[in-house]
Amino acid sequence: MSEQLQVLNPATEEVVATIPAASVADVHMAVVRATRAQEGWAALAPGDRARLLRRFAVTVDAHVEELARLEVREAGHVIGNARWEAGNVRDLLDYAAGGVERLTGRQIPVPGGLDVTILEPLGVVGVIAPWNFPMPIAAWGTAPALAAGNAVILKPAETTPLTALRLAELAREAGLPEGLFQVLPGRGPVAGRALVEHPGVAKIVFTGSTAVGKEVLARGSNLLKRVTLELGGKNPNIVFADADLEAAAAAAPMAFLDNSGQDCCARTRILVQRGAHDRFLDLLAPAIEAVTVGDPADATTDMGPLISRTQLDRVRSYVPEGAEGIRGKAPEGPGFWFPPTVLTGVGPEARVAVEEVFGPVAVVLPFDDEADAVRLANATDYGLSGSVWTRDVGRALRVSRAVRAGNLSVNSHSSVRYWTPFGGFKQSGIGRELGPDALAAFTETKNVFISTEGPQ
Ligand code: NAD
Repeated sequence: MSEQLQVLNPATEEVVATIPAASVADVHMAVVRATRAQEGWAALAPGDRARLLRRFAVTVDAHVEELARLEVREAGHVIGNARWEAGNVRDLLDYAAGGVERLTGRQIPVPGGLDVTILEPLGVVGVIAPWNFPMPIAAWGTAPALAAGNAVILKPAETTPLTALRLAELAREAGLPEGLFQVLPGRGPVAGRALVEHPGVAKIVFTGSTAVGKEVLARGSNLLKRVTLELGGKNPNIVFADADLEAAAAAAPMAFLDNSGQDCCARTRILVQRGAHDRFLDLLAPAIEAVTVGDPADATTDMGPLISRTQLDRVRSYVPEGAEGIRGKAPEGPGFWFPPTVLTGVGPEARVAVEEVFGPVAVVLPFDDEADAVRLANATDYGLSGSVWTRDVGRALRVSRAVRAGNLSVNSHSSVRYWTPFGGFKQSGIGRELGPDALAAFTETKNVFISTEGPQ
């Protein structure tokens, strides 16, 4: 009998589903089916491909509530977030569908003929997704890859395969050809690795930990496989003394507690200018204590559980008993609960201030001036996102330019919109997803010269 994956409800620890894990042979068969489906898909008229993707978007839209409820059960996401996540899949499909007829090459002036570039699909694309945002991250890779004429094999994370499987059913219901978008739940080192090493898979879009991302890059390099890597983050939230401190303190909690801190963009290093430090902490404490942690299916809950016991143990290991700081409340009993936590008595080199915790834990570090803020913000191997709070527009721009990260926000923590580019500097990744260039990342540029002067 094949290996099974057990999906647990992280709020109750009850078994939600048990499903077979894909083997290496299953991956191979999926690649054969995808290769066949891709040929027909790429040959379709652009308008027909776009129409089918729009139909897929409409079908997802009709199932937003069902998908959201499923995400609450398998991932413990609060229901409001889960609805947004399902809606994000619909929006990505719509946006990508709008790009199909606009995916144009160039005409470049040359003597003796005509020179044109053609953006050709890559073929079969493997998307390897993590458990923290199972639906959006799956769709970030899948929607533009399909729109650019590729087939997609999606391997969801071991703990969260259910919404991905449902999306594949909805794709078929919407009329996408068989084999074009397949979902293969399985273990990373088995099914994930098989996708990375398969010569029939032209590109891997990997989102997950930096350690596994490096492995994907190394193994894929044997075949010079194209890769996009979206990896970890340890993102600064820089609060200057001239900022609207009330607004900065009110926004800081959910900037690292959203999705229980299991967010690569979580602003977990709160850097506060020394003159405003004490006042900021006075404002932050009640805001942290006001965060409601509990049943994710209840629309008034701000924060749900962590994904698994493994993750809970990992997060606990970063917070010593009796550590100095601010702590919120969390339920007790079954479920993987950890309270909102802000540590104030740690230095910038402490493990918790340097490593990605991927839980509801932030540190507050004081800084002296703008140069000191930039130095601290950049003192990390990561470079995914960051925020700057100030009323000085010049400073906002200078600091945004100086921080080595892919996604900055000023007087805001918003990082992700499907129509703006997203991705990391340094060890946070390679390549960009979303935004106006998303489809081009799933093509190869071919240059064709046509002589008008006979053979030359
Ligand atoms: P992970 O790296 O353990 O797993 C991610 C995916 O890779 C899973 O599907 C897993 O099964 C698969 N995998 C594991 N080993 C593999 C292997 N040897 N070959 C191929 N695939 C393999 O990460 P995780 O714990 O699932 O997710 C958390 C991490 O993801 C965090 O570090 C977080 O920052 C990162 N993340 C980054 C972004 C981003 O956009 N930059 C977004 C979300 C999450």
